[in-house]
This record gives sequence, C-alpha cells and structure tokens, in this order.
Amino acid sequence: MSKIFKIIKSVRKNIIELKPYSSARDEFKGKADVFLDANENAYGNKAVPNFNRYPDPLQSELKAEISDWKKISKEKIFLGNGSDEAIDILFRIFCTPGKDEVIICPPTYGMYEVSATINDVKIKKVNLINDFQLDVKRILKNISIKTKMIFICSPNNPTGNLMQEKSILKISASFNGLVILDEAYIDFAPGKSFLNKLKVLDNLVILQTFSKAGGLAGLRLGMAFANEKVIDLMNKVKPPYNINQFSIDAGLKSIPAHKKSEKLIREFIGMRKKLAKDLNDLKCVVEVFPSDANFLLVKMKNAKKAYDYLSRKGIVVRDRSSVIKDGNCLRITIGTSQENKKLMDCLKKIDNEK
Ligand SMILES: *Cc1c(COP(=O)(O)O)cnc(C)c1O
Repeated sequence: MSKIFKIIKSVRKNIIELKPYSSARDEFKGKADVFLDANENAYGNKAVPNFNRYPDPLQSELKAEISDWKKISKEKIFLGNGSDEAIDILFRIFCTPGKDEVIICPPTYGMYEVSATINDVKIKKVNLINDFQLDVKRILKNISIKTKMIFICSPNNPTGNLMQEKSILKISASFNGLVILDEAYIDFAPGKSFLNKLKVLDNLVILQTFSKAGGLAGLRLGMAFANEKVIDLMNKVKPPYNINQFSIDAGLKSIPAHKKSEKLIREFIGMRKKLAKDLNDLKCVVEVFPSDANFLLVKMKNAKKAYDYLSRKGIVVRDRSSVIKDGNCLRITIGTSQENKKLMDCLKKIDNEK
C-alpha cells in the first residue's frame, strides 16, 4: 500500500541534497522579547504599524487553526502564496526538467500546463469524456516510468462538474506517482472532500484555497494537504517567508466564519440554481452545463457576440470557446443577486434584437 517511500526516492537529486535556507526565526528556539537577529526596524512604521517583524516561516498558529477546522494534523498541511505556488513547488520537487512527464485532463485549469512548461516538464493530455468525466482507461494507459504526477481538478474548472469518486480512487490506487487533486471549488459541491482519504492514499496531494468560497482571493492563501514527507519537502523548497503577515492575520481572523459558512453556501447554491434556470430560458443560450462550483459553463448560440455585447455593458465573463470542443462556451461566475440580474437583463436584450 505504501507508495510514498518510492515517490520520495524519485525526488530530484538536487532537492534531496538541498540544505534549506535557515532564517533567523528558524534558528532561535525559546522565549525572548528583544529581537536583534533579523535586521528588522525595531521602531516599525508609523503609517503602517505592526508589520516590522518577519512572519513565522511555517505559519504555526494559522496551521493549528486550519488543523482544527479541517480535522487533519498540522504536519500534513502546507500553505502557499495561493494554490498556484503549491503547484509550482510540486513540479520543482518531483519532476526533473527535460526528462519527466505529467498527465493533465483538458479542458481544465490552465496553471498546470503553465507550471509544467515553465519547469520544462512534458505534458500528456488525456481529454475528459462523457459529461466531462475522467477517461480512466486512457489515463492509466498513458502512464510511463517518466510520469511523476497526474492532475485532477474536482469540481473541474472550467466545466464545473465533480469527477466520479471511483475514478479518482482507481487512478490513485493504480499509479505509483503523486495524484494532485485540486479541490478549489469543493465547498460548492454536494460531494465530500477527499481529505479523509489521505490516510489510505499516501500518494494523494489535495489542494484547497481561501480564494473561492472563502472570499479571500486577494490574500493569496492556498492550502496543500498531503503525507508528512511530501509536506516536509514542500517546506524545504518554498521561499522562507512565502505567506506574509497580513495574510496570516487575516486568514486566522476568517476561520471562525468558514466553520459556520454552510448556510451561506446553501443560499449560494440556490442562486446558482436560479441563474442556471434563467439562462436556460434564453434563446441565445443552447445549454447550461450542470455545475458543482461557483460558476456556470454556458453553451451559447454565438459566444463571441454575447461576450462582446456584455463587455460593452461593463460585464466581464470568460470566453472559454477555445478550450471546449465545439466552442461557443462562456464561463460565468455567480455574482451577487443584483449582478446576476444585470447579466440577465443584458442577455435578454440579445434575445430581443432584430
Ligand atoms: C481559482 C483556482 C485555484 C485557486 O488558486 P489560488 O492561487 O489559491 O487563488 C486553484 N485551482 C483551480 C482549479 C482554480 O480555479
């Protein structure tokens, strides 16, 4: 069962041998009230007080709260400057540039491919099939000894759907590398997070974020949950102060509200349902795909025309025509009820044209 041993053995040699940067705050263990070790300004900044000290490199206090919230031990948590930082760090640890490969399942989140390319890691693409589900057989067929990671996004961006649990389980069980399961939108989904599966699947890395349901995209706070050995390596490679003090403070302050957010999310799902129905009633809309996220993928008669029209009215949506087979798709985030109404009013005008 234990795959982690093998995975750790195949980590890049330079990373295994890396002696990580040791910051002033890492080296001192104990209690003190005079800090003359880090060349900070002891007077601070009058205009912006309370930020004169370097933040905790391992965000111990914030991780303790996340541990209590997610019911997972602190040693299994990594915090990144957005999930995007976690994605990049995974490439830098587990993939040798110019040699290794990863598998992604388009249409999906663009950062996997961008990060792979920046790190000179080859990508094998196995497109989603039947209602945007994973093509498990073809994924397994495409695994080679060079394959180090498989990226699965569930609920998937930009299609909005959850992946079938049995597909994720099958892939994790059959693959000897890391399965990166991106759960950025899991709070909006009826399915459960895979967090409780970490105990049995030690090759799983789960990504979550404060950016979506958490309403804190501006903080840049992403979470990765994985086996302690994976987390140790991620901590070793990350920039020493990757999470700034403001984000740590705000993240801490936000957690009690996340714990009680179930009702808000239920209301939000009601809004998603209503917007999906309203959109479906329009003549300019061909199909609204089912969504487990906070956005809708909408097939239009003419996506470009609708996009341009909405832009002129000051409404920005995402044209995903280039990444969806047969094209003509907009990805529309659920806004406030007023924003959704404004969107609908504009699209109705397209219907009434001619
Ligand atoms: C928005 C999003 C994220 C979150 O990225 P952050 O860097 O944490 O803001 C991660 N994965 C997917 C699929 C997303 O759509």
